[in-house]
Amino acid sequence: MKKNRTKNLQTTQKANGSGKPWLILLWLLLPATALFVLELFIRDPFLAEQYARRVFPVVTYLPRSLMNFLPFSLAEVFVVVGVPALVLGAVFVIVRLIAKPGRAAFLLRLGKVALVLVSLAIPIFYLNFGYTYHRLPLADNLELETRDRAKDDLHATTLWVAEEVNQLAAAMPRDESGLFEPSLTTQEILSLADDAYKARSEAGGNQFLTDHFHHGAVLTKPVSLSRFWSYTGITGIYVPFLVESSVNIDTRPDEMMFTALHEVAHSYGIAREDEANFLAFYCGILHEDPEMRYASWLMGFTHLNNALYGASAELHAEIYASLDPLAKADLAARNDYWTKFEGPVQEVSSSVNNSYLIANKQEDGVKSYGRVVDLIIAYYAEQGGLD
Ligand SMILES: [Zn+2]
Repeated sequence: MKKNRTKNLQTTQKANGSGKPWLILLWLLLPATALFVLELFIRDPFLAEQYARRVFPVVTYLPRSLMNFLPFSLAEVFVVVGVPALVLGAVFVIVRLIAKPGRAAFLLRLGKVALVLVSLAIPIFYLNFGYTYHRLPLADNLELETRDRAKDDLHATTLWVAEEVNQLAAAMPRDESGLFEPSLTTQEILSLADDAYKARSEAGGNQFLTDHFHHGAVLTKPVSLSRFWSYTGITGIYVPFLVESSVNIDTRPDEMMFTALHEVAHSYGIAREDEANFLAFYCGILHEDPEMRYASWLMGFTHLNNALYGASAELHAEIYASLDPLAKADLAARNDYWTKFEGPVQEVSSSVNNSYLIANKQEDGVKSYGRVVDLIIAYYAEQGGLD
């Protein structure tokens, strides 16, 4: 007993020992520097762009290459093992605080561990992802002219995408109920997604595409517990701390393909969600595999036709009626899938979507349809599709 008390006393002295305050300052220097650089990037997107083009690919190269060797989602392992471990850890901390003396010293030690973890996590997050939120808009890099467009432009672009969907729909492999059933395995889909970016980069068109677009192999990972994950409404995730992209493989195959394409964009330093969605479309339609192309056109159609609904319910219904019944069945299957998982999370996201549509309806004539749609229209205009 006496021995213990002496030991605790020593620990307290060591911990309070106004020990090494400079060490704490040194640790704090890491997040402080990271946040200072963040401020610079926010003020100057051109600087952030230089980071995204020249530093980000180097910083993430090694962890991404290591992740490419691992066929399973490390993020999932962390969740499956980490969450129970955190609960056990919390129980241990509470028991330790109640049952044993030397609480102050224990809490101080715990605080130091937390300080080290947070001091490391902040710069890692920004280096591996966060800074790229502040790069130049993708439209600038791709030299696409996004501006307010008339309803006619949205209509013409939706028609173009619907025609592409119709051309592919009948050629797709299908199950006995007529729904899209890829001949590619899930593993093939997840490992081939990055080819689309290579194809787009090789197609060229401007210096950004040629020099700074494709950053090598990215293996997107399947999540084994995807069925449960669907209750959150999440289809994929890029974890900056691991430089790893994981995909929900329980969704309809066309959605899984599109998600894999979307996650590759994040791995390449495109952080903004709508820009990653556009890239999934923009690159996916050039994928050498027609099944991946079908998934990309179909998702492009969904974005455009949703926007068209906000502009004109009549035109929306007209184009939807012209869609191949096979493609309609695939879209319906996607909706049916998500109906099974309706809950609080899905309610939040659908209310955001509704507000978006209502906001669009309040405007007249020329309007912005959201960045994904604006970018697809701008791309179609670049291809000479619009007058
Ligand atoms: Zn995303």
